Amino acid sequence: MALDWFSLDGKVALVTGAGTGIGAAIAKALGRAGADVACHARGDGAAETSAEIRALGRRSIALSADLSDRAAQDALVGEAVGTLGRIDILVNNAGMIRRAPAVDATDEDWDLVLEVNLSAPFRLARRVGKLMLAEGGGRIVNIASLLSFQGGILVPAYAASKGGVAQFTKALANEWASKGVNVNAIAPGYIATNNTAALRADPTRSRQILERIPAGRWGEPDDIAGAAVFLCSDAARYVTGHVLLVDGGWMAR
Ligand code: NAP
Repeated sequence: MALDWFSLDGKVALVTGAGTGIGAAIAKALGRAGADVACHARGDGAAETSAEIRALGRRSIALSADLSDRAAQDALVGEAVGTLGRIDILVNNAGMIRRAPAVDATDEDWDLVLEVNLSAPFRLARRVGKLMLAEGGGRIVNIASLLSFQGGILVPAYAASKGGVAQFTKALANEWASKGVNVNAIAPGYIATNNTAALRADPTRSRQILERIPAGRWGEPDDIAGAAVFLCSDAARYVTGHVLLVDGGWMAR
């Protein structure tokens, strides 16, 4: 049955930033596809997502870690493996944005955005990848952005971080493809989440963005979830090093 190729039965996933937005949608979709899921948030924000996944009959735990802190990044993987036994799927979703003209951008904001959006995903992928290589397989999905391709407006650190996410996705994919560990990224378009609240609150930017989206609407977090299930499943076994746009046609325009 072709649909069996999409099943995640028996797999264990770690999803960062799973308390809200895209991460919560992905974590729940992985659970619906059959996976047990460790749901991470900065604080205790992933408890609800985790409870919804347990209600499906899967195992799930909520974990906390401030990903701007390297010791917390390092501890997170051990906590997930310690509770759920292993990790077959890592979704590096947590991310942040700071908006300011480049001349006003502070070193602190630059360093923070690069740490949370780029260094933390790489360091988690390195740690989890090592376990996956020892097991002979695994799936890593990094959440990139349209700003992996475009420069954006007033968000230079965010654009730099997401450009880096797309590039390290390909670098790890090349190294690990022959060892059964597939590394891909999803580049969401404009999705209605906390991340884009400032844009949606600005009537001019909001209108300009909407007018450019061929699909004629902002995306919802669930619009990203199907692509994540696909990339984590056997159906995508020969897909690696890819940055999958899920953007309502934005980049095609
Ligand atoms: P969101 O609701 O703001 O989600 C961001 C998540 O990242 C939150 O769960 C947040 O956790 C977590 N996070 C942020 N800083 C953290 C830190 N220092 N330590 C630990 N966790 C941290 O927005 P979203 O749109 O769903 O964003 C998810 C991902 O999609 C991000 O990587 C974002 O860059 C990317 N993305 C979004 C869009 C879009 O249009 N929305 C487009 C392209 C890419 P807490 O809530 O616990 O702080």
